[in-house]
Formats: sequence, C-alpha cells, structure tokens
Amino acid sequence: MERTDLVKESFEKKVVPAEVPSGKTSDYFGELVFDRKKMCKYLDADSLRGLLSCIEGGCPLDRKTADGVARGMKEWAMEHGVTHITHWFQPLTEGTAEKHDSLIDYDGKGGVIETFDGKALVQQEPDASSFPSGGIRATFEARGYTAWDPTSPVFILDDTLCIPTVFISYTGEALDYKTPLKRALKAVSDAAVPVCRLFDPKVSKVYSYLGWEQEYFLVDESLYSARTDLMITGRTLFGHNSSKNQQLDDHYFGSIPPRVAAFMRDLEVAGHKLGIPLKTRHNEVAPNQFELAPIYGETNLSNDQNQIVMNLMNRIARKHGFVVLLHEKPFDGVNGSGKHNNWSLGTDTGTQLLAPGKDSLGNLQFVTFFVNVLAAVQKHNALLKASIASATNAHRLGANEAPPAIVSAFLGKTMTDVLHKLLELPSGTPIEIAGKKGRNLDLVEIPEIFVDNTDRNRTSPFAFTGNRFEFRAVGSSANCAGAMTTLNTAVAEQLLDFKAAVDKELAGGKTLGVAVMDVLKPIIASVIDVVCFDGNGYTDEWLKEAERRGLDIETNVPRMFTEFTKPSSVEMFTRTGVYSEKELVARNEVKWEMYTKKVQIESRVMVRMALNHIIPAAILYKTAILKEVALSKEVYGDLEHCSTELSLLSDLTRRIDEVRTKATEMREARKKANSITDDYERALAYHEIAESFPALRRPIDKLEEIVDNRLWPLPKYRELLFIS
Ligand code: ADP
Ligand code: MG
Repeated sequence: MERTDLVKESFEKKVVPAEVPSGKTSDYFGELVFDRKKMCKYLDADSLRGLLSCIEGGCPLDRKTADGVARGMKEWAMEHGVTHITHWFQPLTEGTAEKHDSLIDYDGKGGVIETFDGKALVQQEPDASSFPSGGIRATFEARGYTAWDPTSPVFILDDTLCIPTVFISYTGEALDYKTPLKRALKAVSDAAVPVCRLFDPKVSKVYSYLGWEQEYFLVDESLYSARTDLMITGRTLFGHNSSKNQQLDDHYFGSIPPRVAAFMRDLEVAGHKLGIPLKTRHNEVAPNQFELAPIYGETNLSNDQNQIVMNLMNRIARKHGFVVLLHEKPFDGVNGSGKHNNWSLGTDTGTQLLAPGKDSLGNLQFVTFFVNVLAAVQKHNALLKASIASATNAHRLGANEAPPAIVSAFLGKTMTDVLHKLLELPSGTPIEIAGKKGRNLDLVEIPEIFVDNTDRNRTSPFAFTGNRFEFRAVGSSANCAGAMTTLNTAVAEQLLDFKAAVDKELAGGKTLGVAVMDVLKPIIASVIDVVCFDGNGYTDEWLKEAERRGLDIETNVPRMFTEFTKPSSVEMFTRTGVYSEKELVARNEVKWEMYTKKVQIESRVMVRMALNHIIPAAILYKTAILKEVALSKEVYGDLEHCSTELSLLSDLTRRIDEVRTKATEMREARKKANSITDDYERALAYHEIAESFPALRRPIDKLEEIVDNRLWPLPKYRELLFIS
C-alpha cells in the first residue's frame, strides 16, 4: 500500500470499544493473581502455614509444602482454563522471558492427565544458554536455573500460569535483574532497621517502596509497519520535524483521544485483574505521548508489575490498531519517554521514613533518612547515572527536555531552609512542625502542609517531592530494578556508616539528638554544596557548575559502565552482599555487548534504509525533474524557464551524494569496530558510530523536505504523531 493510503486508513479507523467487566473494579481486582485470599481458599492448612512463613519469614520451602502449594495453585489455575505453566523471569536482555510447559503428563493408562508438582513450581532449568551472562555461564559447570520467588505472587496470563522466578547460575551468580534487587532490598532493610531502632525499638523491617510512572508513545500499526526503523529499533532514525509538534503544549493533560482512551481502559482492566493498582492515566507533553502510573507498592512487587504492564501494553495496543513505543526517544525534536521511579522507605510499624514525623523525634528520624539519602546519592552519583544508562536512554538524557546526564538532587525551598537552619542551630535543637507551637526562631521548623506541596522541578534527575524522592532519569524501556538495586544499596551502605558514627557518639555519652546531629551536620554541609541543586538543570551553566562541584559529567555510555567496577562501587556492593566482584565484571560485559548490539542494529538499519529507501526515492524525483528539464529545453530551446528545476537538481544531487558518502563511511566504521575483540573497546568504537548518526540523518531529513511528497516512502512525523 502507498504511504498516503496508509495514512488515510489510519485516519479512518474506528474506536474499538473496551471490554469492561460488569460490576465494580474491586469485584475483579486481583482475580488472576494467586494472592492471600486464594491461598486461604485453595491450600490445606499445612501448606498455607509453610508458604506464609516462607513469604514473611524468609524460611526455605520444603518439598512437601511446595507440593501442597502446587496442588492448590493447579486447582485454581484450571478453573481459569490454564493449560500451561511458565517460570517467568527477568534476564539481562530487558523484558521478560518465558518458557511454557504444558501441564500434561502420561497417566500410565495410555492417556494424559494434568500434573503440576512442587518441583515444577520451585525450580526449572531453562535451556538458557543464549541469555547474556557475561562469561559466567561460559564456564563448564555454570548452567542457569530459575527458582520461584514466593514473595512475588503467581499470576495467570491467557492460558498460562506464570511463576515469577529468579534466574541464577549453578555457582550462585545472578543472571537476572530480580536477584540483585532482592539482595539490595534486604541490604537496605538490614541497614535501616538499627537506625530506626534509635528512634523506635519496635521496628523490625524496613520496606523500600516504588511507584513508577511509565511514559510511552502510541503509533498507528499500519504506519508503523511501513517504517523499518520503528519496527526493528523501536525508534525513528530519520524524519523531518512536523511543522506543529509540542510547541503549543496542547497535548499535555489534554483530553484523551477516543481510540486511545479505549486502549487505556482495556489496559487498566487487564492490570486490575492481575492485581496491579493502576491509578493515573493522562496525555504527556509530546503529541501521541501518554503516561500511566499505579499506586506505589513494595519495590520487588511493583517492579514485577511494571514488567507485566509493559508486556500487556503491547498486546492490548494491537487490539486497538496501535503499537506502543517504549523507546526513550522514538522521535527527534519532541520529548522522550522516561519512567520516573518514585522511591521511599517505610517501616513495618507504618512510619514513612522520608516524610516529616508526628513529633520532634519523628522529625529527627525523617531528617536522618533524608540527609543520608542525599549523602548516598552524592557519593555514588556517577554510579547511579551508570545504573540508568543504556544505548537507548542516551538519546534522551541531556536532550534538552529531560534531566541532563548529571545526577544532582532537588530539595525545594522548604527542605533547603530546614537544612540551613539545622546547620545554624546547636545540635539537639528540636525539629518541630511549624504552627504547632507558633513561630519560634530558636527551633527548626517544618511547615505543616508539606506533602505534595513542595515546588516541582522537572529538570532534576532526583527530586524530593514531600514524602519520597523521584528518580526521574530512569528510561522508559528500562527494568526499574537496575536503578532500584543501586539506589537501595547506596543508601544501605550510607546507613551502615552513619549508624557506626552515631554509636561512637552515643558511647561518648551524648544524647541521641546531639549525637545524631553531630554526625549529620558535616554531611549536610557537604551535600548542600555539592549534590543539592535546585536551579535549571538544562542550562550550560549547570554543566560547568556541576563539573566544578566534582559531580560526574560523563556522557559516554560505555565509559559510564566502568563505574560499576571502580573500587568504591565494588566495596559498596560486596559489603552489602548485593553483587560479588565477579558478578559486577560479568554484568559490565553484558552491558557493553548489549550497547554494541543496539547501536550496531540501528546503524545497519540506517544504512540500508538510506540506500534502499531514501536514495531510490530521491533519484526517482530527480529523474522526473531531469525529464522535465529536457522537455523544457525541447520546447523553449533554452533552460531559462527551469531555474527552479535546476536549483532543485543541484540540491538533490548534493544531498544524495552526501547520503551515499555518509552511509559508506558508517559501514566502514562498523567493519573496523567489528574487528575489535575486547567488549569495552568495541562498545567505545560503537559509541563513536552512534555519534555519527546525525551526520547521515541530516541530509536525509533535508531530502524529505524537498522530494515530492507523493514519492516519499516513509510515513512522516506529522502523520505518525497525530492520532485523530
Ligand atoms: P506526578 O505528579 O509526579 O506525575 P503521579 O501521580 O503520576 O505523579 O505519580 C506519582 C507516583 O508516586 C505514583 O505511583 C504514586 O503512588 C507514587 N508515590 C506516592 N507516594 C509515594 C511514596 N511514599 N513512595 C513511593 N512512591 C510514592
Ligand atoms: Mg505523572
């Protein structure tokens, strides 16, 4: 089909109504999850007790209990028409992996029966030799296996029972995202509990919470299928800006187009059935860009839910004739997509540790956690950036409408004032909620109306928003676990150091208030001058200032990854038990390899499209003009009547030559890069290739402007970006 026909077809598509179950959301919420309610209904008493002590107390699951649990799950699953099971895991390729097994087995009488036992529930050995492992699995004994994570509930997708698992090598190394995340969550709890007990001896566990906001683009599937670049790389590698894009700000929070609204509704229903508390949906800044967010939850669970949602989005979009783009930068010149990670810590006694407390002791605890988080972010700012870096996110960061490739923290005026006041006043001064006791200049005061009342700064990668920090630099296609593992570990390490320092002060006879503030004051003085920045992060001045302050300003992604194996990082990860040095080295190999492959694929697509799509279209147009010129000459006997044609011809020829030259150069650069054997060096060479993309793109985008609209083969931005 011609491009113009595809555009017409997409324009005329009708709304496909969403299928919403009758009744209230609460009636079907969690219907497809094996949650507590189902456990009570389908498990015998022993299995239930065994499973709960495994989930709550971390006790291992014995074979008998596992068999009992599997029996109950099978019964529940078969009532929902389930025929298959899969261990569902999160390999380092991003996305999730599944290997489905049918429930059938021979019954010994010539037929089959449905079986599912504890062994199949607890452990599987996927033939996973082609998942990236960075050399760990290359060794003889190190095959990988998946093991059930009972803290993540089992769920049903279509006809399949999905069992969330970790993926590890036989020598115990993590081959996935979930394993280190779980270790980091344990580390932060283990480090935070003793700190909490300074304030409240009843605390026995600290939870890390995550509330993600997923941004994405929708494009019509017919137009998508006509763009090789979108289909293969998830982003447009060429495309001239639309005359209108986001300059009028008319899309943000605008009314949701009906086809999109129907898609969102179906997505919500599917999410709700899976127990995912999807809450917010709205248009984003760029045309055709949208966002959805759930109510926050415990980090491991919330991250699983994000992975499930990313998967659901794509399936459900097809029903509505859309394709979802989760890429961080699908279109040049308009905003990219992120996945803000709202993060906080809370105790099992119900205290939010990053929100002001009920009294001055609670406020001291809040300030303690608040300042220690800033210290962790300051110390490991380069590593945190490395944790969100990827070939795809590189196009977004620093691209003028997203946080820059510098990790700083935004506090807002209220907390900045509180920190300054704390420095001024003697240690031990109570921190009160303002208004309770009238204004008092001798007190540190926190305004009463505080949560969600803080000023917003959309340019900061790590912003305090009243009761949590929002790590905004995370990419839309990323697994949140990358960022969450690093952040929670960094905070764990900082809390260990803090606790040791406070213990020393307490041993010297100081009161708690004095001891805590004596340790916090030098930290506050340091973070205020370095990592805290409330100004506009998009400016060049900030870049210079950040460098002066000693924050990391590296923009080269392969080089950023080296942060993971620097001594301070190795020390942090090994001390907290989150990664061994071997794992860190292996994972970097995977990251470089992934980076290389992504850029390699984009570069191949770019060159082939330039040679097979763009140049032929431009030559077709050139031929038409040449014919026209020849005809003019014949009729008029001179070229006086075709000055426009002649100027177009020279423009066309120049651009076509430029495209060919740049494409050839890129191909040569790739050949050279491919001959490099060292993973890191090859990734660096591919970084150079990525940097050369604009040089090939520019003449192509110029050609799009001058070639006859009817001859241009690729759907244009103005067609892709506006859904009616
Ligand atoms: P924004 O105004 O930043 O776009 P949204 O409402 O879209 O905010 O998303 C905010 C996210 O932060 C939601 O997922 C919300 O549940 C989550 N959130 C709220 N409080 C906390 C908290 N204490 N810890 C973690 N996440 C939180
Ligand atoms: Mg939002």
